[in-house]
Amino acid sequence: VAKGAGRNRFSFFTPALQTAARERAQLMSDLRTALVAQEFRVVYQPIVELATGSIHKAEALVRWQHPTRGLISPAAFIPVAESSGLIVELGEWVFVQAARQVKHWRETLHPQFQISVNKSPVQFENPNLQHVPWIEQLDQLGLPGESMVVEITEGLLLSSSDGVLDQLLSLRDDGINVSLDDFGTGYSSLSYLQRFDIDFVKIDQSFVRQLVAGSTDLALCQAIIAMAHALGMKVIAEGVETALQRDLLKAAGCDFGQGYLFSRPVAAQEFEALFTQTTSNGG
Ligand code: C2E
Ligand code: MG
Ligand code: MG
Ligand code: MG
Repeated sequence: VAKGAGRNRFSFFTPALQTAARERAQLMSDLRTALVAQEFRVVYQPIVELATGSIHKAEALVRWQHPTRGLISPAAFIPVAESSGLIVELGEWVFVQAARQVKHWRETLHPQFQISVNKSPVQFENPNLQHVPWIEQLDQLGLPGESMVVEITEGLLLSSSDGVLDQLLSLRDDGINVSLDDFGTGYSSLSYLQRFDIDFVKIDQSFVRQLVAGSTDLALCQAIIAMAHALGMKVIAEGVETALQRDLLKAAGCDFGQGYLFSRPVAAQEFEALFTQTTSNGG
């Protein structure tokens, strides 16, 4: 190691950084072939109506089964897909899978079933690279706009670009619902959300993780719920892992919960089994 380091002309470039950079470059090149090689799949996590326990919503989350490295988490490859631009193609692929799935689940599970997909800011950046508009793809499947939800993050709303906002408004006009992901971690105010006619606010997991009676986090959740409701939006709490968290959120009037307490994100078939089980238990 010492010999190698001595030969290194870029001595500020530590071996750890070099390794990280090399891994990133490798990941980027592997990502390029992964779509064609069909290494991605989509898993679904139920979004549970807290008042009734019923499930008629799910979030689509992408997974990468790497041929040699095994399952790679989106936290590791989404940023790389974003910086390489591949997220545009990957995002469209996820949307198509989710749209086919929601068609099936509207027919077999619940007539109003909704699936949400995450859309990265990068996907809004270059409308010229857009594929067939989502609403046309839904049309072809005989689905209304409201069968899908687009999950965006606060940063997108703060974007000053007209193009981005126009795209968002056009999704809205097509009836596609809009959900604000990871709410509370960015800088947008609730009144800002109303201007864009947001349908759902997702309280970030960091506010749910340490939720106990009398905590500051509970006060924050209560405030978000009250204001969202006053503005006509529904609230989804993310990262619900315990019955206590669920009960506190339910008592606070939170509309939906999503988290390991109910289920991890699972393959479509497993989701159907879970749905059947929940429904037969009177949920
Ligand atoms: P997100 O959209 O906020 O998704 C929620 C994340 O929280 C998911 O992680 C989910 O598995 C995880 N989660 C759900 N319940 C719990 C819980 O009770 N406890 C804990 N600790 N975690 C929970 P995942 O699937 O690893 O995805 C991470 C992020 O990657 C997503 O955060 C989203 O920003 C991004 N992502 C995933 N799929 C896609 C995609 O298809 N397109 C885009 N653009 N981004 C995606
Ligand atoms: Mg999300
Ligand atoms: Mg989130
Ligand atoms: Mg996130």
